[in-house]
Amino acid sequence: MTALAHEKQQKIDLVNLARSLFERGYSVGGAGNISVRLDNNRFLVTPTGSSLGRLQADDLSVLDSDGNLLEGKKPSKESVFHLAIYKRNPACHAIVHLHSTYLTALSCLAGLDTENAIKAFTPYYVMRVGKLPVIPYYRPGSPEIARELSERALDAKAFLLANHGVVVCGSDLFDAVDNTEELEETAKLMFLLQTQKVRYLTDDEVNDLKNRGK
Ligand SMILES: [Zn+2]
Repeated sequence: MTALAHEKQQKIDLVNLARSLFERGYSVGGAGNISVRLDNNRFLVTPTGSSLGRLQADDLSVLDSDGNLLEGKKPSKESVFHLAIYKRNPACHAIVHLHSTYLTALSCLAGLDTENAIKAFTPYYVMRVGKLPVIPYYRPGSPEIARELSERALDAKAFLLANHGVVVCGSDLFDAVDNTEELEETAKLMFLLQTQKVRYLTDDEVNDLKNRGK
C-alpha cells in the first residue's frame, strides 16, 4: 500500500471506529475525540464540535506536531493533550478520549487511588491496560491537562481525567479502541460489584500476567 493509500485507509478506519463507538453508546452529542499518528510527524484528529457518529473522512484535521492545521477542519480543542502524549511516548500511535458513562462516573468519585483507580480483578484489564492513573481536575481544554499527561505519558497506557473522562493509548487505532472498550467494561463491572465482596487478583497473579505479556 502506498503512503497516500495508507493514510486514506486510516481516515476511513477512524470514521468507522468512531461511528461504531457512538452507535454503541460510548459517546453522546459532540463529546469525545480520537487521533492517530501519521507519517512525517503529522497527526489525524477529529474536528472541534463534531459528533463521533457523523464524521466525514475529508473533514478530519491533519496537524503537525506543534498543532498547526495542515488539512481539514479546525481540530478539537482537546487535540493539545493528544499531541503532548505523542511527543512524549513514541510507542503511542493512536488515542481515544471519551466521556463514556462508567469511566466518567468513576472519574467523579472522591478518594480514588491516583496511581491506579481500578485495582485488578480480571486478567483482561491487566493484559490490555494494566493500571489507570488519575489526572486531577482541570477545565476541559486547559493546558494543564496536556502538561500533566505529558509528564505521566510513559507511566501507563490509560489515564482517568478527574470529573471528566478517560484517555487511552494504543499501538494503532484498533488497539486504542479495544483498550478503551475493555476499560469501560471493567469500570462497569466495578460498579456492579460495588456492594459485593470482590476477590481481587493477587500481586503474584498480576505479575504472572504482566510477565507473559512481555
Ligand atoms: Zn473531554
